Amino acid sequence: AKKSGRNQFELYHNELHINDKQTLLLENALRKAIDCNELQLHYQPQMNTQTKQICGVEALIRWKHPEMGYVSPGKFIPIAEESGLIIPISDWVLRQACEDLKKLHLDYPHLKMSVNISSIYFQQADFMKRLQSTIEAANIHPRLFELELTESTIMPNAEQSIARLVKLKKFGLKIAIDDFGTGFSSLSYLHRFPIDILKIDQSFIKHLSSYEDDASIVTAIIKMAHNLRLQVIAEGVETEKQCKFLQKQGCDYVQGYYVSKPLPLAELYEFLETWNQC
Ligand code: C2E
Ligand code: CA
Ligand code: CA
Ligand code: CA
Repeated sequence: AKKSGRNQFELYHNELHINDKQTLLLENALRKAIDCNELQLHYQPQMNTQTKQICGVEALIRWKHPEMGYVSPGKFIPIAEESGLIIPISDWVLRQACEDLKKLHLDYPHLKMSVNISSIYFQQADFMKRLQSTIEAANIHPRLFELELTESTIMPNAEQSIARLVKLKKFGLKIAIDDFGTGFSSLSYLHRFPIDILKIDQSFIKHLSSYEDDASIVTAIIKMAHNLRLQVIAEGVETEKQCKFLQKQGCDYVQGYYVSKPLPLAELYEFLETWNQC
């Protein structure tokens, strides 16, 4: 039978309602996640394409709820951002990343740590103070830290962002632009920002061999980035073919399942033992 417009509306309305409920449920569960030790960091290795050495790791948050199991960050980070919970969660991520880097540093003194910074966290008035005090409390050299920010985090308030980034650089941190290529900014404009490294978004890497255009875009990004004295890392590298192509184009680093999936700290240690270090 043909559905009436009204039924369709009700169906839509119900779905919205269920989604609202689910969001609320997740938000309440997330509120307890830090205190209940449900959050964890996994670390994904980053490999230098020339030397094949592991030079850094990216910290990626994991949430394992006792009943729901793993909830993906793609699902709960937006809820955390909307509810403000992203602030205590980001504080926790920074503290945990510092603690783990401090341990890793004993065996791997050159290993760097990349941390994702939410735009909400970056916009906080006391962002700099929070970051600085966490890193100083852990007694880690800031040059071992890289902050991953997206274009949408730094573009809307360009002047204020630049001022903030200059302070971060003065403190000694490295700045990476995450998901590069998915925003609307041109590289020449972005170069006004004091950044060190571009992370080419995985969507370009995915279709490298099937779409010639993506290969051209990736090649052009690498060339222009190098002309602007920026380093380049490709993310979502899954195959040897992709890795070889990127190496040939001069891409400095690769990250993705081809090298390793994100690993809990204990497994990262096992992985690093089998691999050359920077
Ligand atoms: P992102 O920063 O772009 O992280 C890369 C995502 O790609 C990660 O997903 C990673 O597990 C996945 N990935 C890595 N290698 C491959 C590969 O070879 N193939 C494919 N298909 N995927 C790969 P994940 O861990 O689910 O994180 C999703 C997003 O959640 C991240 O995207 C980031 O935006 C956000 N996120 C994760 N951890 C944090 C955090 O601690 N703080 C904040 N603010 N955001 C975070
Ligand atoms: Ca990232
Ligand atoms: Ca990314
Ligand atoms: Ca992404």
